[in-house]
Amino acid sequence: ESGPDKIDYVFKVVVIGDSAVGKTQLLSRFAKNEFCLDSKSTIGVEFQTRTVNINSKFVKAQIWDTAGQERGALGAMLVYDVTKRQSFDHVARWVEELRAHADNSIVIALIGNKADLADLRTVPTEDAVEFAENQGLYFFETSALSGENVDTAFRKLLEEIYNVI
Ligand code: GDP
Ligand code: MG
Repeated sequence: ESGPDKIDYVFKVVVIGDSAVGKTQLLSRFAKNEFCLDSKSTIGVEFQTRTVNINSKFVKAQIWDTAGQERGALGAMLVYDVTKRQSFDHVARWVEELRAHADNSIVIALIGNKADLADLRTVPTEDAVEFAENQGLYFFETSALSGENVDTAFRKLLEEIYNVI
């Protein structure tokens, strides 16, 4: 799916959430299918891209991994860590942040990452499902480490953006 001659759409997406929840690793898993064991807190790269096919259109996702890039974003991945309750408790604040700084029509996916760490889980799936339903967000649990659900979550977000534009 990489490097088509013709791009039909470019969708700007932001990945937000508390520090260390796995934002950079999720992005690197989706864009390059890589998980980097010794990742630095933030590498110089500001965004990464991957082109996917949606309804026979080439959609280039331009995904930003830095705070403060909400303006003009069509979608947001709001990430928490299923092993860190505090990162889930902060999700409401991140939603407010998006509602304040992003376009009203922004599509938001709530992502519970590190689902591979089952023994360390402190955020039950049902809590997140309930929050997501109340707020009208899509919800997925993912693992950037194993890759579980990462493509599915990003694709769903891009498809929903495609459906609302
Ligand atoms: P960021 O600050 O939100 O960008 O978080 P990072 O992507 O830098 O990840 C923070 C730490 O969590 C790093 O040590 C990663 O290796 C680890 N990590 C990220 N995603 C996962 C995951 O899905 N599973 C596990 N077990 N560790 C992860
Ligand atoms: Mg990071």
